[in-house]
Amino acid sequence: MQRIESVIDKNTAFNPLSTSEPKDSWQRVKDILSKEIDDQIYKAWILPLEIKELSLLNDTLNVTLLAINKFALDHVSKNYSKLISSTFSSLYSVSSCEITFKISESHSFKRKSLASQKRQVPLVAKTENTANINQSLNFSNFVIGSCNQFAHAASLQVAENLGRQYNPLFIYGGVGLGKTHLANAIGNASRRRNKKVLLVSSEVFVSELISGVRSNSMHKFKAKYRSLDLLIIDDIQFLDGKERTQEEFFHTFNELHQGNKQIILTSDKVPQELTGIEERLRTRFASGLTCDLQAPDFETRVAILCKKAEAKQIELDQEVANLIAESISTNVRELEGALNRLIAISDLRKAPIDQSLAREIVKSLSPKNTKEITAEEIQKTVVQNFNISLSDIIGKRRTQNIAFARQVAMYLCRKLTTYSYPEIGTFFGGRDHSTVIHAYKSIDEKTNKDSKIKEIVEKIKREICG
Ligand code: ADP
Ligand code: MG
Repeated sequence: MQRIESVIDKNTAFNPLSTSEPKDSWQRVKDILSKEIDDQIYKAWILPLEIKELSLLNDTLNVTLLAINKFALDHVSKNYSKLISSTFSSLYSVSSCEITFKISESHSFKRKSLASQKRQVPLVAKTENTANINQSLNFSNFVIGSCNQFAHAASLQVAENLGRQYNPLFIYGGVGLGKTHLANAIGNASRRRNKKVLLVSSEVFVSELISGVRSNSMHKFKAKYRSLDLLIIDDIQFLDGKERTQEEFFHTFNELHQGNKQIILTSDKVPQELTGIEERLRTRFASGLTCDLQAPDFETRVAILCKKAEAKQIELDQEVANLIAESISTNVRELEGALNRLIAISDLRKAPIDQSLAREIVKSLSPKNTKEITAEEIQKTVVQNFNISLSDIIGKRRTQNIAFARQVAMYLCRKLTTYSYPEIGTFFGGRDHSTVIHAYKSIDEKTNKDSKIKEIVEKIKREICG
């Protein structure tokens, strides 16, 4: 899918991008990538890339990215072009994205030889923070609502009193509700106080332990973890079933704890439910303070959207924020994803971020969020409104009231479900699909002409959709 051209592009020498739009688009993709890949990798390889071109042709997005040298170009195109391409594709809802990599001349002319370039890149990685903390996740950009008030307050307390108050702090909650955000916020606050901090995912913890055992360097592993002021292990549930790691973690945990060093754990379950983790560890997990994150309520969702938009310097209309917050209710990550897509598509089409665009995005994003509506539900709601029985609507009677109710029900089946006309016919006593089509057209016309009929249909629709 990707075309790689390792040619030096002469046009880009000292020539910043002439338009700002590709830059904005690339920024949005980078925002997403920065959350998906390791912070150090992101900063070493993705962040230095610049965008040169972005165009859309026949549902294929063509992107040209500039790397600072051949070494970077080779590494990124080999390892990250797929990820970059799929991030663009999903952000813009296009079927494919072709990435072309080139070397930026403004950089390349400064490098004398390939050898010096090779030395250059690892240096970037070396100056990175070794704490593995994401510096963009802070208390200041964490929106507080009743869903997370307690966890937020506890996190603040812990950040101000490392190892002295609640140890360990155990934060649990569903996917995308802010566990990693809060954990990083504590990490950042602690680093500002010059504390020695390390955040690892439990997968990294396991793999470091295994390689320590294999290479006979467990003393290094131990020294590294035991020298910390704050150890954060994200998604501890993945220690599930890994006995050797649990054994080592038990000792590390005890040493840190006894030395009044702070431990923070995040998990998708409460300690008691982590059944693949040995009892003595679970007991320790629960021995400090356990706090949970719940799904945000409507007001909090709106506030989060506005905060995220503000950070991207986008002005978000209240109505637009409401629309997104109404449709995406379970997960902050999805909420943010919808906003990213909204901004990206508005950029691409050069269209304003308005309600109609928001509606479109929400529709394309959330089929899984809209509850499945059944034909039976529609029929039940219709008969209640027309004060007739279910057998009336399915049966053969043709009094005006019943026939009209039947047509409304068929119309709503077509509008609110994915059933075909013939399938809808079967729900109404095996009627022919042409009857259903006729009903649909008839009600469609009537709702357009007659505001009273429109009101009736809308009322029933609202009742069905909740
Ligand atoms: P988890 O680790 O629980 O799966 P994350 O912490 O990764 O979830 O959160 C997912 C996304 O939602 C992140 O981009 C995070 O910044 C954002 N987020 C979650 N909760 C909040 C909040 N209360 N305020 C602002 N952003 C939030
Ligand atoms: Mg997380």
